[in-house]
Amino acid sequence: MERPSHLIDTHEVVGASAAEVRPIPVTRTFLPDLAAYTELMRGVWERGWLTNHGPLVKDLENRLREYLNAPDLFVLNNGTVALQIGIKALDLRDEVIVTPFSYVATVSSAVWENCTPVFADIDPVHLTIDPKAVERAITPRTTGILATHVFGVPCATEELQDIADRHGLRILYDGAHVFGVRYLGKPITAYGDVTTLSFHATKLFHTIEGGAVIARNAELGHKLSYMRNFGHNGPEAFQGIGINGKMSEAHAAMGHLVLDSMDHIARSRKISWEAYRDALGDITALELLHVREGTDYNHAYFPVVFDTEARLLKVREALRAEHIEPRRYFYPSLDTLPYVVSEACAVSRSIAQRVLCLPLFADMHPELVPRIAGIVRAGL
Ligand SMILES: *Cc1c(COP(=O)(O)O)cnc(C)c1O
Repeated sequence: MERPSHLIDTHEVVGASAAEVRPIPVTRTFLPDLAAYTELMRGVWERGWLTNHGPLVKDLENRLREYLNAPDLFVLNNGTVALQIGIKALDLRDEVIVTPFSYVATVSSAVWENCTPVFADIDPVHLTIDPKAVERAITPRTTGILATHVFGVPCATEELQDIADRHGLRILYDGAHVFGVRYLGKPITAYGDVTTLSFHATKLFHTIEGGAVIARNAELGHKLSYMRNFGHNGPEAFQGIGINGKMSEAHAAMGHLVLDSMDHIARSRKISWEAYRDALGDITALELLHVREGTDYNHAYFPVVFDTEARLLKVREALRAEHIEPRRYFYPSLDTLPYVVSEACAVSRSIAQRVLCLPLFADMHPELVPRIAGIVRAGL
């Protein structure tokens, strides 16, 4: 397929000027065949049914329930509304124990829902919330735990459930990175009370904008389902308070086509992820991701943790000089947000200063990973 020159990737041409090349971003959205998308949209035009639980949304919801083995899954318009609905459905209020190492939405949604975030530091190996720190952070005002399966690595789910059971707490997992992961023989979404997903265009599976909530049981699932639809229970009755969390047919159409290609996407990302690991695994100044034992991983991200921030900045400059744009995921540590009060989370702050996510997406040019790895190695 011919592309205009400004869309030519840097690895495809030698000696091209900056104006002619498209930078390599940290992630590139998987785009299905445009004709197939148009065909699905033709059906939307014919039906004149654009939103409010249309057939594409309902079908996608059913396909995702099956694909993820999650019977009480409900699709939503984004992953942040998913968190807000999860917080409301679990009646989280007052103090909620949160991870400082995540995307800002994890913590901002809790604050938005009038919870007081109490930060528990992370485990330096897996980068997920440290159960011992969670236990120390519990007070008589604690109502729940909000933790992220960061970079697709499961939290210490067994230990967290044990703590929650002993203290009568609910667990909400931010599963924005964890699409398709299985842990200890079960879908990752089977752990905790509610798990949220994000289907944003930067994520492994996407619907342009979108998300989902998954409940551990049908009763909680029912609560999630009316909460996403203004609290409606039939056209003229209300079950309780709700919000507009509905996905549209245009977003669901994208979801269907991306889901059709999911096996290809997963395979392609795995190849690039393993190529990075093989190319960078021997460098002592770099720590690679430690996927928790017992995980069927989804190759969602390729973060590298440098021994010093100075080295990170040096390597980032070297990559930028070659039109490669890694991202500082996640920086800054969320315990430094201007609207929270927290004791310093030393581990999270230290990791946040030294972590960089390298470009990873489906259908990367085969020469790209060795090229990026070479720049990283030379730039150390
Ligand atoms: C992307 C992301 C979100 C937000 O999801 P949106 O769909 O963009 O609202 C929340 N938490 C984490 C960890 C994320 O990476």
